[in-house]
Amino acid sequence: MNKEEFRKNAHQLVDWVVDYLENIEEYPVKSQVAPREIYNKLPSEIPEQGEHFTDIFKDFEEKIIPGMTHWQHPSFFAYFPANSSYPSLLAEMLMSALGAQCMIWETSPAAAELEEKMMLWLQQLMGIPANFQGVIQDTASTATLCAILTAREHYTNYQVNMRGFQSEKFTIYCSVHTHSSIDKAVKIAGLGSQNIRKVTVDDVFALNPKALEQAIQQDIDKGYTPLCVIAAVGTTSSTAIDPVKAIGKICQRYKVWLHVDAAYVGTATMLPEKRWVIEGLELADSYVFNPHKWMFTNFDCTAYFVKNKEALIRTFEILPEYLKTKSDDQQVNNYRDWGVPLGRRFRALKLWFVMRSFGAEGLQAKIRGHVQLAENLAKVIRQRKDFEILAPVDFNLICFRYCPAYVKNEEELNQLNAQILHSINDSGKAYLTHTKLNGKYTLRLVIGQTNVTQKQVDAVWNLILDEANTLATQQS
Ligand SMILES: *Cc1c(COP(=O)(O)O)cnc(C)c1O
Repeated sequence: MNKEEFRKNAHQLVDWVVDYLENIEEYPVKSQVAPREIYNKLPSEIPEQGEHFTDIFKDFEEKIIPGMTHWQHPSFFAYFPANSSYPSLLAEMLMSALGAQCMIWETSPAAAELEEKMMLWLQQLMGIPANFQGVIQDTASTATLCAILTAREHYTNYQVNMRGFQSEKFTIYCSVHTHSSIDKAVKIAGLGSQNIRKVTVDDVFALNPKALEQAIQQDIDKGYTPLCVIAAVGTTSSTAIDPVKAIGKICQRYKVWLHVDAAYVGTATMLPEKRWVIEGLELADSYVFNPHKWMFTNFDCTAYFVKNKEALIRTFEILPEYLKTKSDDQQVNNYRDWGVPLGRRFRALKLWFVMRSFGAEGLQAKIRGHVQLAENLAKVIRQRKDFEILAPVDFNLICFRYCPAYVKNEEELNQLNAQILHSINDSGKAYLTHTKLNGKYTLRLVIGQTNVTQKQVDAVWNLILDEANTLATQQS
């Protein structure tokens, strides 16, 4: 491809992107293809001769697009969103044009310094304590792994890094509702899955601090060393908020590392009325939230904050001869030492474009708008006798189920709600996912897509009612 072809193709792609996003509601939200359908449509070998872009693009439209789930569709209510925005897209374009590998300050000073400044902007916007320092990671899973590894090194005086495990018997604590990334991180860190203690929760699915303290004491009595607690600010099932302050006090008493996982809900602390969820964060050692979920910044972009920057760097730093530079002793950040990978993308650029384009007020208005939409729908659901809400609606996730009087047992209710979910998702008109709360099959509806409005919320609610009515009619 020469430069004139690139120019022409790129202009066409920009037009395609705008048309795609403007007409995205014409696509089924969830891809409707069968397993292996895409794989079998693709040739089994690289073409011998180079192909024209027109042909490549034609296949993209015909073979790839049908196999895509449209995460930017405003009727995407599943999981947590990975929302996006035009300024973020533009930054991604420039990032790939620059093609910079931003592992250390010298390999692109602007990337390192913009990152440092963006972390400061986020810290202030979100009300994260001023003595924390931020760094961008690829995902919350990686940030949580960094936290657990740093805790491990900090408490062994950096000895596991040096000599491997000796006879340490560490234990890790989180609630039964915390994210699977914690189990994964514990496995990778060599701490042993059997040493995770899943602490019980209260009636709104938040970690019970008394049960936490009991578990810690029992472990100490048995000769274990409690290493780390992971508190969830916004669990994935129901956005339950573990009480950070109460947990933080326990962690201080027993000298245990506290990592706070606010991957999704963290974005909401830019609203003063939602900041209560991180009350006590000054007692924590590390904190993570994902601008790539609810902050209009394309996946991937995770903001990781630590109180003790030296501990983080000491855990990860390496300095082989070929990476030594004359700026190593100066006041610059070499982010390769702040996490797992050496190579790093220039993610700060997206945050800069997004934060400048929206402004604090613009971001806050959008987030508040999503919360309002969820409150509106929750109100409608609460007025009905044949539906029930199964968890507090503090943000923009509604956990609910259909529970008509004609169904008497739980197993049948579970099946009924699974049926509703599958037929809506198969229709392609909206996409939602489920969880289990107290054994109850729970529909999760997350209202966080960048362009979602009352219109799509009304539409999905009508779909749910239609489906419920159809099932009720079949019954009688
Ligand atoms: C989404 C989520 C994660 C994982 O985020 P990744 O960035 O995909 O690793 C972790 N914890 C919670 C609470 C989440 O909602």
